[in-house]
Amino acid sequence: MLEYDVVVVGSGPAGCMTAKYAAKEGVSTLIIEEDAEIGEPVQCAGLISKRAVEESELKSKSFINCELKGAIIHSHSHDVRIESPSPEKRAFAIGRSVFDKELAKEAQKEGADIILGSKVKRVKKRAGETKLTISTTGEEEIRASVVIGADGARSGVAKMAGMKVTKNFLNCVQVEGEYEMDEAFAEIFVGKTIAPGFFAWAIPINEDVARIGLCIDKRFSPHPNPLLFLKRNLSEHPVIARKYKGSSSNFTVGTIPIPVGAGLLRRRGRGQTVSVDKEGGLMLVGDAAAQVKPVTGGGVYYGMKCGKIAGEIAAKACLTGDMKVLNAYERRWRKEIGKEIAFGLKVHRLRCVISDKDFDTIFRTLSQDAVLQLIKRKGDMDYPSVVFREFLKHPRLIKLMAMNILKYLYTK
Ligand SMILES: Cc1cc2nc3c(=O)[nH]c(=O)nc-3n(C[C@H](O)[C@H](O)[C@H](O)COP(=O)(O)OP(=O)(O)OC[C@H]3O[C@@H](n4cnc5c(N)ncnc54)[C@H](O)[C@@H]3O)c2cc1C
Repeated sequence: MLEYDVVVVGSGPAGCMTAKYAAKEGVSTLIIEEDAEIGEPVQCAGLISKRAVEESELKSKSFINCELKGAIIHSHSHDVRIESPSPEKRAFAIGRSVFDKELAKEAQKEGADIILGSKVKRVKKRAGETKLTISTTGEEEIRASVVIGADGARSGVAKMAGMKVTKNFLNCVQVEGEYEMDEAFAEIFVGKTIAPGFFAWAIPINEDVARIGLCIDKRFSPHPNPLLFLKRNLSEHPVIARKYKGSSSNFTVGTIPIPVGAGLLRRRGRGQTVSVDKEGGLMLVGDAAAQVKPVTGGGVYYGMKCGKIAGEIAAKACLTGDMKVLNAYERRWRKEIGKEIAFGLKVHRLRCVISDKDFDTIFRTLSQDAVLQLIKRKGDMDYPSVVFREFLKHPRLIKLMAMNILKYLYTK
């Protein structure tokens, strides 16, 4: 039987960063990945901030497809163009397959082992050690002091260990296709018929090709299948259909977890999910712990950030032999991003209940010069609450909130 101090299930950005930071502390570390190749299949639009590129600590930038100058947001009858004010605030379209492989190499350099093509099928919890059964050709057991589920949105580790995780997900779909681009601007499209409960996007990856996709929140959608909306956008949307030139490839479907928030009508903390089971020596990180931005669905930056904390704390628990140390994980990551997620959930709930006419009002307001300057100054794709809090002081948006308050309050 294989034995490790720390076993990380999943080799996405969160898993690789967790393993790198655990191995760095000197504990024996293993990553188990069910797919035969790291980074494949890709389920990501690959839009990340300059800050996230830095968080990856990767020296080679071979994973960058293209640097973006800003974003154009389209509502039903209004467009807002937001140009990045400085190189510091730029975003990048990245190739996740290369990115994840590079992150895995860094974990290996620190001493982590990787087993590919092996799925974790059972988790047996016991104080002091947890056993995983993995299946490759046959079945094999692995013993670990700490097991970390970095196994994505529908974490099997969390389910098998009986940990409470979110039940709400965005359903997403994406293709890469030829797309007419004026400049390297990401395009965002909002509207109930375009992507109910979320938004659609076109992210350029070079001069001729973009990732075109969308997510829906099926609780607010007349249909649970996002593909119907993608097909309609590609053939009928006034902007997407005009710019899309066909030749689709790399079709992908996926899910993004919506974290569980305290909610206005619920008591603080009630229903909140957990990312640590110290008795069983179990932790969750990345999408498995719903460490994503509810406003944009982005999880790469938060996953890496929380992975560093998870790896360090798991190693400390192994080195001291005290599993109570694991409790610090939940506290530390919530301190870093908990408030941002909680605020993002409120914005997400508002977006789900407002009408297309309300979106037009919002974007008309955003295109006022003073507001655009504010976005340029305070806009931050990793911490959007800063600028949203400022928007909510605008009289027109206060009125819009007041008109939607009942729908907002009674939305779960
Ligand atoms: C369509 C789409 C577009 C997105 N666009 C963006 C974006 O532009 N920017 C952004 O920041 N985020 C984006 N996201 C979210 C982002 O992809 C995730 O937040 C990120 O991949 C989470 O990383 P992770 O390491 O937690 O999990 P993942 O990257 O999902 O990795 C989990 C790994 O665990 C493995 N695994 C699962 N179960 C087992 C098992 N039982 N045994 C062994 N291995 C297992 C999987 O094979 C996988 O490799 C997007 C998501 C989707 C679906």
